[in-house]
Amino acid sequence: MEPLIVLTLTLFILAIIIIILYKILKKTKTNNKVQSLNEKSSFQNPNPELNNPPTNTKENIGPYKIIKLLGKGATSKVYLVSKDNNLFAAKIFQHQDPELIERFHREIEILKQIKHINIISIIDYGEYNNNPYLILEYVNGKSLDEIYMDLSIIEKLDIVLAISNALNYLHSKGIIHRDIKPENILVDKDLKNIKLTDLGISRIVYWKPITQDGQILGTPAYMAPELFEGVYTDPRIDIYSLGITMYEIFTHKTPFHGSPSEIVMKQIKEIPPLPSLINPNIPSQIEKIIMKCIEKNPERRYKNVSKLIEDLLLAREAIKKENKR
Ligand code: AMP
Repeated sequence: MEPLIVLTLTLFILAIIIIILYKILKKTKTNNKVQSLNEKSSFQNPNPELNNPPTNTKENIGPYKIIKLLGKGATSKVYLVSKDNNLFAAKIFQHQDPELIERFHREIEILKQIKHINIISIIDYGEYNNNPYLILEYVNGKSLDEIYMDLSIIEKLDIVLAISNALNYLHSKGIIHRDIKPENILVDKDLKNIKLTDLGISRIVYWKPITQDGQILGTPAYMAPELFEGVYTDPRIDIYSLGITMYEIFTHKTPFHGSPSEIVMKQIKEIPPLPSLINPNIPSQIEKIIMKCIEKNPERRYKNVSKLIEDLLLAREAIKKENKR
């Protein structure tokens, strides 16, 4: 054989060996990398959702990877998402109605001004497929309507106190929530992380209403009677809704039932049965607080949330003492 052919063949074989070696080396490195990433995520992240993301959710919302659907609101969908090994809730607005879009932007504006341990905080916002979205702090738990039946009196009181503190803060900033109800209170498994959410219809007192046609926003079963009579609203409507929320969590029933229009009539006219007629175990101090919150006449309710908190704390102390006896 010609020496040139021998040299070319040797070089060719050498090149093939180098390529094969390179490929083997690269594969080993990638495996190590994947393994170390997995180790890192299972070490750093106690959330099983992140370690085993469902395979069918490949989409991203901006830099956030969708893990699963958490829930649906009236105008939006909420997804569990992750970024840099952290979990968040992504709320994607799903309507084209300009009034509703303005309301969603209003929620962003309100959330940007808020920093309170018992109110969901906003992390980021943007647009996804032409729909606005917000990235919110994630609560790994359930809403209060799903869990209140399993809670003790003191646990319920502590949740009401946390939400009262959140409301007191909002009111001090001139913001009325306007949709206080168990569904809008998120609570984690050990009841430590208690957050008020859904500020979609909150209003800063000095802002003009967005509804053009006198439409009333809120959930009738929790709404103060003066709202249906077109009276100018003040923070005491939130105290009323918190009273109905307390009524529900302590008796396992809202006071008024029927079609939306029947509920509205009852909110205006009907005095609800005393909570103790439904649940004889309800402490008298709590019953008194609930009935004061849900007075039809706002003048007869707590003047502000601070006064309500004072009574809640006194009730808590008295109930704890009675339980010790
Ligand atoms: P919303 O549109 O705010 O009423 O949210 C709809 C549902 O999504 C709620 O009932 C919750 O189940 C869920 N959700 C909303 N925000 C969060 C959050 N920050 N963390 C966990 N779940 C949430």
